[in-house]
Amino acid sequence: MSKTLQFELWHTCLNRCKFCYLQGDQETPRMDMIRNIEEAYDIIKDEETWKEYDTVSFIGGEIFQGEMDNQIIIDRWFTLVELLVDYHKKGLIKQIYFCATLTFPKIRALWATLDYFADCYDGLWILTSYDEEGRFHTEEYKQNWLDNLNYIVKFYPKIKVNTTVICTGAVCQKYLENPNYFKELEDLGTSLFLKVPSRPKLYKTNKEANEKMKLNFFPTRELFLEFITELGNNRPDLLDKMCNINLRADTLIGKWKNQSFTSNRDKSTYMEEFDKETEFVMKCGHISTYNAYLNEDGCALCDIEIIKGQLNG
Ligand code: SF4
Repeated sequence: MSKTLQFELWHTCLNRCKFCYLQGDQETPRMDMIRNIEEAYDIIKDEETWKEYDTVSFIGGEIFQGEMDNQIIIDRWFTLVELLVDYHKKGLIKQIYFCATLTFPKIRALWATLDYFADCYDGLWILTSYDEEGRFHTEEYKQNWLDNLNYIVKFYPKIKVNTTVICTGAVCQKYLENPNYFKELEDLGTSLFLKVPSRPKLYKTNKEANEKMKLNFFPTRELFLEFITELGNNRPDLLDKMCNINLRADTLIGKWKNQSFTSNRDKSTYMEEFDKETEFVMKCGHISTYNAYLNEDGCALCDIEIIKGQLNG
């Protein structure tokens, strides 16, 4: 069984999605960005690491849309990339995941990073996300995302792409109106992972979040149940993958509120390190991140399990 080591290199991101958990905290000092890459380098360089893990994943903020605006950061990044290529070729690292937003037109840092892997693309993944509102601020953002995805599929056909879709109220409605909604995305050349909306720390309730963000973000429980029932009937594979914590990294190493941290996820209980100021454990035992409804408290994870049980008879 493969184990994934994930690095959260920084909180800097120029995309500023309305629903992002980094709301109000989207800037990491450049010295910290440099140090974080160096720390990641040291951990990856240690061959002992790859006796426990075989997959490495990089999340930002965002790395490739202009966030590396300093030559020292760029140099450190590509030194790290050279190490990744070396260990990938030696078979120490089997899979490498790069998170990429793909919404800006000139993402040269991503293309340059991918080019380092020119003769070893197998096992390389781009993880991106699709949200019609909140992430694609204008039609141009959406078109850039489509163009960049097409570019990867055309010029880097061996690289796999996975797209996360947050099942917002808007997405639930769109899928119920158009059962091909997810298929149309898959036809672009990406696999899909569905997740439930979670509340940015800035807002105290889901209702407040919907109002302030001006998004149809959190669905009502009734709408969500209808959505997952339809999804389970038509695409049980997508419902099975939805919120599947086994598809997430085992260990996250990063920097948060100026403190380095390592968080290990307990996949048997869905518990993970959580922000005790804004999250809590619900009666069902899941963390409040899954309290995902507009009009009432409830656990989306528990509801998914109930619907799956009903559909499986
Ligand atoms: S692209 Fe990701 S990190 Fe950047 S603002 Fe959006 S959700 Fe946050």
